[in-house]
Amino acid sequence: MSVRDLNFWQEKAKALTIEGRALIGGDMVDSLSGATFDCHSPIDGRLLTQVASCDTADADRAVSVARAAFDSGVWSQLPPVVRKKIMLKFANLIDANRDELALLETLDMGKPIGDSLAVDVPATARCIRWCAEAVDKVFGEVAPTSPNELGLVTQEAIGVVAAIVPWNFPMIMASWKLGPALATGNSVVLKPSEKSPLTAIRLGQLALEAGIPAGVFNVVPGFGQSIGHALAMHMDVDCLVFTGSTGVAKQLFICSGQSNMKRVWVEAGGKSPNIVFADAPDLEEAAEVAALAIAYNQGEVCTAGSRLLVEDSIADAFVARVNHYMKAWQPGNPLDPNTKCGAIVDNLQLDRVASYIEAGSDGGATLTSGGIKPSVVDGGCYVQPTVFDHVTNDMKIAKEEIFGPVLAVIRFSTEAEAIQIANDTEYGLAAGIWTRDLGRAHRVAKAVRAGSVWVNQYDGGDMTAPFGGFKQSGNGRDKSLHAFDKYTETKATWIKLS
Ligand code: NAD
Repeated sequence: MSVRDLNFWQEKAKALTIEGRALIGGDMVDSLSGATFDCHSPIDGRLLTQVASCDTADADRAVSVARAAFDSGVWSQLPPVVRKKIMLKFANLIDANRDELALLETLDMGKPIGDSLAVDVPATARCIRWCAEAVDKVFGEVAPTSPNELGLVTQEAIGVVAAIVPWNFPMIMASWKLGPALATGNSVVLKPSEKSPLTAIRLGQLALEAGIPAGVFNVVPGFGQSIGHALAMHMDVDCLVFTGSTGVAKQLFICSGQSNMKRVWVEAGGKSPNIVFADAPDLEEAAEVAALAIAYNQGEVCTAGSRLLVEDSIADAFVARVNHYMKAWQPGNPLDPNTKCGAIVDNLQLDRVASYIEAGSDGGATLTSGGIKPSVVDGGCYVQPTVFDHVTNDMKIAKEEIFGPVLAVIRFSTEAEAIQIANDTEYGLAAGIWTRDLGRAHRVAKAVRAGSVWVNQYDGGDMTAPFGGFKQSGNGRDKSLHAFDKYTETKATWIKLS
């Protein structure tokens, strides 16, 4: 077996055949207008392929085949145990195609190949598998009626689900929607981000190969304002699930109100506090994890620990250790298995990150590491993980989601002040708390307004943990059985027996 080094992946990339067409009704198709867009890799700017640029006409076509598939019962009326079997095959195919999916993900959005292989592909398969395994173990309810009546409370598939997903974890985000939507019997129209459409198309092909019937799972690549908006306004989409920015999420609620009042569930932005108290059980570990929490996936993580709240008494020494650990996160070629921090998704996002680095310095914060756009590979999009100390919570870099590896260190002196700063944000996605005091851990975890709270770790949880936000970070939850609620309607059936 050849060594799986940079050269191995570069050669594999050259040999890769990339599909850019839409998947509608079981067929790979061009957009009806014939329009395409160029899909470039942020690794070096190379053209990967041309991708179908779907618009309103394609939305109509995809929604109508999804509706026909749903109404035919070819998937929606299968016994759950049969849907389970087919979805397990789908999960196995994802695992079996790990190298290809990982390579596509890395080429398309710039994350390190090591992460695509070890995290993104297995997590996608795991999510599909978990939802499949759950679906024949969920029961309805029998109401405590009088003997003359039978009251049944059941959950039914909602119908046609449109799923609009972002580019930072293209496959995982898609699987968080697909898993519960398909398991509960819905038909799905998936719109991947125009910045990372490739793995979604491949997932659609694998689902078909696994035996998910034609028309049940459709993939329509294209731009947000075009196909995205068309799906949001569509009169025959029953449910719209979204992961992306808070700004777009707000538009989707308006679209629902202006069209058919489709259910809208959004997972949106974050500006999560990672709070380190002086009594943390292991300050060295806390510093190492604080670096990871902002540098992993190039900081393009909705739950990134982008505000590091540090207790005054330890702040100087702690920030020095965070800067030390940041050295391990210098950007490298994403196709090199040794790389921990890859390329930023595109030039637009790179410029956005750079503008926040400028704003940090202009706003009076102290730059303690990073801040440079190194030329790792010619034509690629790279930025060093950057740390700003002495940030105050009213500064731009502390208030706005950057979605890049830029850390704002904010100092505090009391527990009450830490809670006040942590909650002083329009977001409420996640928070980290580092303390050895059990009482404090519970007090702060309760007081922080966030959907996920991690104590003495960052980014804990598995498929059993519901994931989503308070406030303007969203509504509803992905993952866990709670996610199934978004994809079903509740029905009460009352039967008179006498
Ligand atoms: P984005 O909102 O720009 O785009 C997300 C998706 O929406 C893309 O597919 C895009 O094409 C589509 N879109 C854009 N405009 C649209 C419109 N007017 N109508 C319909 N669809 C439209 O977000 P992004 O830049 O792709 O992703 C980054 C954002 O995603 C960040 O804010 C991040 O926090 C968030 N995110 C949240 C979670 C979570 O679970 N809460 C997870 C990952 C990313």
